[in-house]
Amino acid sequence: MSHELRTPLNAILGFSQLISLEAQDNAEISDFSQEIERAGNHLLSLVNDLIDLSRIESGKLDLSMEPITLSSLGLDSIALINPLAEKHHIHLHNQLTHHDDIVILADPLRLKQVIINLLSNGIKYNKTNGSVTLSRTLTEHHVRILVKDTGIGISTEKQSRIFNAFDRLGAECGTIEGSGIGLVITKRLIEAMGGGIGFESTEHHGSTFWLEFPIHAYCITQNTAQKTLADKTEITQTTTHLPVVLCIEDNPVNLKFIKALFAKRDGIVLLEALTGEMGLTLAKSQHPDLILTDIHLPDSYGYQILAQLKADPNTKNIPVIALTADAMNEDIVRAREAGFTGYITKPIDIYAFFDLIDHYLVEQHS
Ligand code: ADP
Repeated sequence: MSHELRTPLNAILGFSQLISLEAQDNAEISDFSQEIERAGNHLLSLVNDLIDLSRIESGKLDLSMEPITLSSLGLDSIALINPLAEKHHIHLHNQLTHHDDIVILADPLRLKQVIINLLSNGIKYNKTNGSVTLSRTLTEHHVRILVKDTGIGISTEKQSRIFNAFDRLGAECGTIEGSGIGLVITKRLIEAMGGGIGFESTEHHGSTFWLEFPIHAYCITQNTAQKTLADKTEITQTTTHLPVVLCIEDNPVNLKFIKALFAKRDGIVLLEALTGEMGLTLAKSQHPDLILTDIHLPDSYGYQILAQLKADPNTKNIPVIALTADAMNEDIVRAREAGFTGYITKPIDIYAFFDLIDHYLVEQHS
């Protein structure tokens, strides 16, 4: 189906470009062929959107869910959308920074498609010299990615129609190009990735569209670590230069305490996973130098995580330390027999904690 729809368009677009080239000396013909090209391109993007929508609606969407840092998402999206912003004289602000980075689980290409769509709407439906800001807010377990513009806004009466396919809320009478299905695709994609979408808008003053995802991990870089995080491949890059510790822990107070402990150490990258599943995903993709895991996790048991890490040739040599409130002697013996490299009991003794961490990180890096 997609082939049948695209093939004639390829011919229209290809030959109209050839005519433009041939007709360089004939202003009128050149102008006509450029009109064909413009309309053809518009039709092509409409066809692509429709194919995308029908694939989503028929459940044929293949998503490849991976850990994504918000800072790399921000850098990539802003770089892609910058030419459009310049063309419309709109200022772009990216507040998704490296510091206290958040990791979510989503399909990287599809999430970028969604952010680009929201950013491009923010630019298209703006005013000259307006601005679009990409930022985030946090609640305990969720992150919201916000795209805020200072544009024309959406009147209260029209707001309920915003996610209706082909409804352009009156924009079809103006000069702004569009098809009225970008937001429908965006909503379907976000929901398929386990997220949510919403917006707030005031007519003549601007709109804020937001996407909400569960937080799967934090990527905290301290001091020296931040300097090496200058480009978009931060996790991959830091893992090659700096010791990386993955901590799998679901309790927010314990997390806060561990983050505070690592804040006292320069040059260690701390990845935090809130579930066993996310811990395993991060262990496989980021290959940390050391793993700390809680024993009682909501979706898993520390011993199961250890067994899965040991069963994978890529992760079997990573030292794994158990973090647990089970402090009986037989618990410790059992952990050692299972293959945990170390055992830290809660409440954590700070000195013993750093002795153990430093011991394994030095060993790995020497
Ligand atoms: P389109 O291709 O028309 O931009 P969308 O599905 O992305 O389609 O958006 C649907 C309609 O919602 C748009 O036609 C426009 O009227 C309105 N809209 C979307 N985003 C914004 C925004 N940031 N500010 C004002 N109006 C918007």
